[in-house]
Amino acid sequence: MNKIPYLGYDDDNYGQWDEPEDEEDRIEKLKFREQVQKDSEYKTCVLCDREVFLRRSYDKCNSCMEKLERGMEW
Ligand SMILES: [Zn+2]
Repeated sequence: MNKIPYLGYDDDNYGQWDEPEDEEDRIEKLKFREQVQKDSEYKTCVLCDREVFLRRSYDKCNSCMEKLERGMEW
């Protein structure tokens, strides 16, 4: 057991990943995370100008997206 690495970490695409209780959820989430990382590249966030590791289809980092979701004005 315990071969699966700890899942909790910060990501520029989705922010904090939670550690699922359920082993199957954990495996699914890890697979998804791997896929996300393969699909990601270093780019500059269009809103905060920070260099972030983002999916090809994204141009805004997670912290900016969170601010947008909370309705902050830019
Ligand atoms: Zn940003």
